[in-house]
Amino acid sequence: MSDFTNKTAIVTGASRGIGRAIALRLAQSGANLAICARSWQALSDVKSEAETFGIKCFAQIADVSSEPAVVEFLQAAIKEVGEADILVNNAGIYVTEPIAEHPLRVWQAVIDTNLTGPFLMSRAVIPSMSKKNWGRIINISSISGKVAEIYGSAYSASKFGLIGLTQALALETAKFGITVNAICPGWVSTDMTFNQLKDDEYLALTNIDEADSVDVARLSVPQMRFIDPEEVADLVDYLCSEKAKGIHGQALNICGGLSLH
Ligand code: NAP
Repeated sequence: MSDFTNKTAIVTGASRGIGRAIALRLAQSGANLAICARSWQALSDVKSEAETFGIKCFAQIADVSSEPAVVEFLQAAIKEVGEADILVNNAGIYVTEPIAEHPLRVWQAVIDTNLTGPFLMSRAVIPSMSKKNWGRIINISSISGKVAEIYGSAYSASKFGLIGLTQALALETAKFGITVNAICPGWVSTDMTFNQLKDDEYLALTNIDEADSVDVARLSVPQMRFIDPEEVADLVDYLCSEKAKGIHGQALNICGGLSLH
């Protein structure tokens, strides 16, 4: 495990799933945390759990797609736990819809959350990371950010875009001791996955029975299993460590071989 004592990590979308696992792993490695999500109860539970590792955890409701909310969250976070050394842009939403039925407001919500959110957060933290000459930015993209997903035009566009943002920021920050990388998970055991697999529209479009849906997805993975959120958290922990200082501008898959199909 890494030692992030005296470092501060921001994790967005930390109330459940992958973000929760990342926040708890970084807390276990000694980082102070600033975490956000749009709803409070589960976020507050993660704050309490993180504090059992003896670190300081600032938690606040903030929608990453809103510029004023991001600014307010980051200003409060600096007061409570200091400037960020590590930023994990994890918050994301998923929508399945054929293009002809995709309302502009849904497209916009997906792009604003999955792509504009990481832009707003990164833009705010890079100046102070540059001054310290150290920083880690990790963007949680997706396998769907490399190979498009049917009926997922907004989601795929946002996740492809996030890899583009990762590469551009990596070029811009390379001389300031900052690394910027993306992680591309396949199916992970989280609410997002299980909600998608029982979504009426997804089932109708893919012609899969709800009873078979989880198994069909699981068996599409060469390892025949979903990734645990903690496995993604382990990769984040490694990318934030000194050992990973040469990994820069990459988009690393963690998918049990799903990308090979
Ligand atoms: P999840 O279980 O649905 O959790 C999403 C988290 O993001 C929650 O904490 C949610 O809390 C928060 N969130 C959503 N919209 C937000 C916003 N606008 N502002 C702030 N917080 C927001 O999803 P997950 O499976 O853990 O996914 C995490 C990330 O991994 C996402 O970017 C997702 O696209 C990516 N990913 C997931 C999978 C998978 O198989 N699960 C695969 C590839 C990539 P609130 O609802 O309270 O805001």
